[in-house]
Amino acid sequence: MTHDIIIIGAGPGGYETAVAAAGRGLRVALIERGELGGTCLNRGCIPTKTLCRSAEVAVTVREAAAYGVELPDDNPVINYAAVADRKDAVVAQLREGVAQLLKGVDVVKGEASFVSPAEISVEGAIYSAPRIIIATGSAPARLPVPGAELAMTSDELLSMTSLPSSIVIIGAGVIGLEFASVLNAFGVKVTVVEFCREVLPPFDAEVAKRLRMSLKRRGIDILTDTRVTAVEAGMKVTCEAKGKVKTLEAEAVLMAVGRRPVLPPGLESLGIVLNRGAIMVDDDMKVQWDGKAPEDVTVYAIGDVNGRCMLAHAATAQGEIVLGEKRALDVIPSAVFTMPECAMVGLTEEQCAARGLDIKVGKATFRANGKAVAMGETDCMVKVISDVSTGRLLGCHICGPHAADLIQEAATVMSASLPAAAIADAIHSHPTLGETLRAAILQ
Ligand code: FAD
Repeated sequence: MTHDIIIIGAGPGGYETAVAAAGRGLRVALIERGELGGTCLNRGCIPTKTLCRSAEVAVTVREAAAYGVELPDDNPVINYAAVADRKDAVVAQLREGVAQLLKGVDVVKGEASFVSPAEISVEGAIYSAPRIIIATGSAPARLPVPGAELAMTSDELLSMTSLPSSIVIIGAGVIGLEFASVLNAFGVKVTVVEFCREVLPPFDAEVAKRLRMSLKRRGIDILTDTRVTAVEAGMKVTCEAKGKVKTLEAEAVLMAVGRRPVLPPGLESLGIVLNRGAIMVDDDMKVQWDGKAPEDVTVYAIGDVNGRCMLAHAATAQGEIVLGEKRALDVIPSAVFTMPECAMVGLTEEQCAARGLDIKVGKATFRANGKAVAMGETDCMVKVISDVSTGRLLGCHICGPHAADLIQEAATVMSASLPAAAIADAIHSHPTLGETLRAAILQ
């Protein structure tokens, strides 16, 4: 069976690339051992954002009286089984949409393993092509501490049909904080334990601190600079901070400490170079070989499996590069869908300092923004960083309502290599949250 391209894995890297390649008239085989849509659609972006929406509704109802809307009982009852059903329905609807998009693609069900660099076996059948794209994604990682396997991962948490009364979340990265925000809104007592000094380690420290304070005000206990040393049955988490040992008890424990790449069987004997478990790729997403690269095939790796940027849109953009498109991979926006949201693109102040860049920093809060005041969401900020000599926008960091949507304006300007002033020059409609981004640039 010969195709022009074989793609292993139908997540946002694999299926989007398959659709685009088929649209260009190529014969594409897309091999998937689980559900279409990968982690993003089935166990990641979409189910979590559906839970975020239910959580937001719960908070809105609980706080309705502050907006002049009085309910007979301002303490809403969370029917978590119904919340979970809605999440599953949203996922099923979108999965059906992906199946429709893949009409022109030869979708093969089963696990792909490498027989040779150019040959893939799926349940005994051999597939070959001159171009093979590995898009096998990632799986939850666990800390190497005793009892780590007793904790849930995001996969198990997303399959729950009832809520625990309390939870300890190990890890204050994007996934840990999103679940903390959602579960807190549903009335679960949440404690977050983070090894680093601040939450959201890759984000701007000032924005991360603002989010931490905001989550604390909502009742989430956040222990930073704290190392987890063991998890015990009966759900006890032992941790250590500044030489003091502490044991936290809760009904459930979530391990949210990052993800590890998933390699297709047979890959490790081919001579493809790995870096800390991820497939090393060049800027064209081509894998690197220990010795001479094979002549009959070009192998690529896109998405989480190459460990470059574990985000859905990064996986899709890397697939576009394989198909010959130009993409600015240094401008990838990233968001955390907490209440309030945070989002970033480009460099942080700390990264600019480490590179010795001469920068101008502009900040604005949402306190003077008419829309934010009307929404009752003013405890937020925008920070923009630009290069003094070129005027180019180097980074943008937002903590506030709809930050994940707002960041796109900055990302578009950065992708087009426009000066920061392009945002200030554009007339922004009033009253909108985007006016605060403009105010930060004008500062
Ligand atoms: P995946 O989506 O992981 O897909 C890989 C596919 O390959 C899977 O379907 C798997 O079954 C299949 N596969 C693996 N091995 C084989 C094999 N040998 N044969 C056949 N098939 C195989 N990112 C965002 O951008 N925004 C978010 O809001 C966001 N939220 C997230 C929330 C959570 C809880 C999690 C866990 C992740 C979240 N992510 C988010 C990250 C995002 O899901 C991933 O970055 C994205 O799914 C990576 O896409 P991918 O195509 O590389 O791999």
